[in-house]
Amino acid sequence: MKINVASLRKNEGSSARFEFGEALPPIQIGDGEYSFQSPVKVTLNVTKSGKSLLVKGKVLSELNVHCSRCLKEFTYPLSFDFEDEWLPVEAATQDEEGTALIFDKDEFSIEERIVEHILLHLPMKFLCSEDCRGLCPKCGVDRNLNTCVCSDETIDPRLEILSKWNKGV
Ligand SMILES: [Zn+2]
Ligand SMILES: [Zn+2]
Repeated sequence: MKINVASLRKNEGSSARFEFGEALPPIQIGDGEYSFQSPVKVTLNVTKSGKSLLVKGKVLSELNVHCSRCLKEFTYPLSFDFEDEWLPVEAATQDEEGTALIFDKDEFSIEERIVEHILLHLPMKFLCSEDCRGLCPKCGVDRNLNTCVCSDETIDPRLEILSKWNKGV
């Protein structure tokens, strides 16, 4: 995912559009690894503004993930917009070099930045549906597909003794 901004940089206010559809390697999140179900589509509008380049982008793809409640595999749709500002290295102050997005050639890769945006847009937990009922903690049955005879209540052993006592057992 390389963009060449040589001609953009010459003319204030000029803009260019870039489109990509690329298969990216799986991304790592904690212990998990998630592969993309489809190529990652990226559309960028890049505008020269002052010393920087304003990037308005859109990302579309799908990730293969597992539901964190029932463990079923499903595809998680990715679709979001983002905005970035890139500075050429020669125009950046020392502060900006530590915090801003910097490019040092007319042609540079935005792939790393796209992966960062994707990571920021993922939920804390993947759920196959908001009301996924998950697996029974006792017998492991998928409660979306089956019902089991296990009780939902987990009985505190101390209370169990009390209830026996109450019943005079
Ligand atoms: Zn689920
Ligand atoms: Zn059960």
